[in-house]
Amino acid sequence: MPQEVRGVIARAKGEPVTVETIVVPDPGPGEAVVEVQACGVCHTDLHYREGGINDEFPFLLGHEAAGVVESVGPGVTDVAPGDFVILNWRAVCGSCRSCLKGKPQYCFATHNATQKMTLKDGTELSPALGIGAFCDKTLVAAGQCTKVDPAAQPEVAGLLGCGVMAGLGAAMNTGGVSRGDTVAVFGCGGVGDAAIEGSRLAGAKTIVAVDIDDTKLEWAKDFGATHTINATKEDPVERIRELTDGNGADVTIEAIGLPKTYEQAFYARDLAGTVVLVGVPNPDMTIELPFIELFGRGGALKSSWYGDCLPSRDFPMLIDLYLQGRLNLDGFVSETIGIDDVEEAFHKMEQGGVLRSVVVL
Ligand SMILES: [Zn+2]
Ligand SMILES: [Zn+2]
Repeated sequence: MPQEVRGVIARAKGEPVTVETIVVPDPGPGEAVVEVQACGVCHTDLHYREGGINDEFPFLLGHEAAGVVESVGPGVTDVAPGDFVILNWRAVCGSCRSCLKGKPQYCFATHNATQKMTLKDGTELSPALGIGAFCDKTLVAAGQCTKVDPAAQPEVAGLLGCGVMAGLGAAMNTGGVSRGDTVAVFGCGGVGDAAIEGSRLAGAKTIVAVDIDDTKLEWAKDFGATHTINATKEDPVERIRELTDGNGADVTIEAIGLPKTYEQAFYARDLAGTVVLVGVPNPDMTIELPFIELFGRGGALKSSWYGDCLPSRDFPMLIDLYLQGRLNLDGFVSETIGIDDVEEAFHKMEQGGVLRSVVVL
């Protein structure tokens, strides 16, 4: 029997979101219905609401979630009812050209549920990032459910489903930060702070946090930044060079998505170093760099999608580290809120006052 539950819907570009009744079908082959316990509010949800992703309104928002599998469809063997899972938007296909090359973390044909959730009048919903989890229950592809230790609280665990994983992975996977490295992170919101946390976990000796907001720089210190730079008060490139024996950082991570800060990250990097772009640019942005510098400095310019994570490999491992007290995930939860408070949480996010508001269901 299809079920009727509450969900947060963005009906039209720029309009405040509403809580409405949605219809969740029973899981078909390869699908699962998950009882959502917690879901973080991410910038991407706001981008959907603003029409910045596509025009496929109405959207069912929410995608940084953890919960318990309620039921599974035919042929599902990897998860079972009762399993505590983090939802992911990289359910790898196993058969695309990247998967076949042994690089499933770049899978080009990830799975989502085949059936659609709808409004009561039958209007099909577009779930954010193929998840849609500001709702009591959601329908996903079974591969989007990653089983982790249920000892972790859902409001903390769910954050690995998007932004925090993106930042941790930008440092640990894409940037390949390792012990003794020097790192500079531009932008100290949720993703940037996760990149700082990932650098700390990987053993970086110097972690420089750059932002224009002193409050955010304080947060960055809590996650392991060894030095902070307020870019409105001093030149970040010069200061990073000073802090790294005049050389620049081994790995620089841009977590904002602006040409100006990308350029700073480019020049604040040591010879043969790595620049990682994890901030998401707008489609109209361009960047100009002296071509000889691209060649002359060597190294690597990389982009990090979802922290190049492989959910089945990374989520359970990171939850284990969290439960051992070695990974700070609690620090990302600024507040827990109800399903009716998402619109207000968007405003707080725009004002920069929170790392993550998490809806608890
Ligand atoms: Zn694939
Ligand atoms: Zn997200």
